[in-house]
Amino acid sequence: MEKVIVIGSGCAGWTAALYTARANLQPLVLAGGQPGGLLTTTNIVENFPGFPEGVDGYELMTRMQKQAERFGARASFGSVERVDFSKRPFVLTVDGKKVEAETVIIATGASHRHLGFESEAKLETKGVTYCATCDGALPVFRNQPLVVVGGGDSACEEALYLTRFGSVIHLVHRRDKLRASKIMAERALSNPKIKPVWDSVVTEILDPKQDKVTGVRLKNVKTGAESVLACMGVFIAIGHTPNTGIFKGQIEMDANGYIIPKRGTMTSVPGVFVAGDCADHVYRQAITAAGAGCAAAIDAEKFLAAQNQ
Ligand code: NAP
Repeated sequence: MEKVIVIGSGCAGWTAALYTARANLQPLVLAGGQPGGLLTTTNIVENFPGFPEGVDGYELMTRMQKQAERFGARASFGSVERVDFSKRPFVLTVDGKKVEAETVIIATGASHRHLGFESEAKLETKGVTYCATCDGALPVFRNQPLVVVGGGDSACEEALYLTRFGSVIHLVHRRDKLRASKIMAERALSNPKIKPVWDSVVTEILDPKQDKVTGVRLKNVKTGAESVLACMGVFIAIGHTPNTGIFKGQIEMDANGYIIPKRGTMTSVPGVFVAGDCADHVYRQAITAAGAGCAAAIDAEKFLAAQNQ
């Protein structure tokens, strides 16, 4: 039986693993489908304290893993299919096998949100993508007009990154003001290759019949006018959905699926703790996820100590 299982291997997960490892609890980290979490899809992280020149997202996560492993954390690349939190020890089904745990730290993060229409799904990986860092350099996008959808920091970051490859980057936002932080918004809007398209939503991605992206159909939300904008790639950066589906019905969540911590980082189930983006729709930063991972580890350690007394 494991003393601590950490589900997820982003900033929250590896920090929880580091702290529980240093408390001699030999945590097992179930890395899940996206080892390293969403940060591995970011090229340069400029706001994680301690890295004045910025740090590559993948490198930061690799360093966090190494640091936790140095103190005895173990990584497994299994995905959790089911959890049973109805009694202790808790039972997790990981790739068909059952694993028992005295405590669980949920750090499953969040996934990219989709626009939700049929042509988007049909053209995913065929010109529709959710990660400029992963796909931006593909030959099909070189010196071509590209579209980024969204108005937050992610959309600005994606658009700026794509200026290295595309001929022009149309930043399509549903309002007339970016949600992004001032510094990111200024950088994006002052880049001559980035052309904002305000007050507009994408209603369809063209052209599933050709099995590739040739453009987007746009609607101006103020005037109702429709138009077609030619492009070879659509990069969607409209926020995230928490990865909490497997916990539904077992722990308390809000209407959007974010887990609600009850006392410190403890969830509605004593012995199950939560950290990072799966419980945070407000701050959602690498550093706040890491801080929450630390808090969850300390809470889990105290919980185990109290149980053993
Ligand atoms: P976000 O801040 O939630 O922004 C999502 C954007 O997508 C908003 O502009 C929103 O429009 C738009 N949107 C949402 N649903 C839409 C839909 N169905 N159709 C069209 N547009 C839609 O998400 P994010 O940009 O991914 O950022 C998440 C968090 O990570 C934030 O806290 C951000 O600061 C942080 N982050 C930081 C950095 C950095 O500092 N370098 C980089 C990336 C992310 P509205 O504005 O109208 O709501």
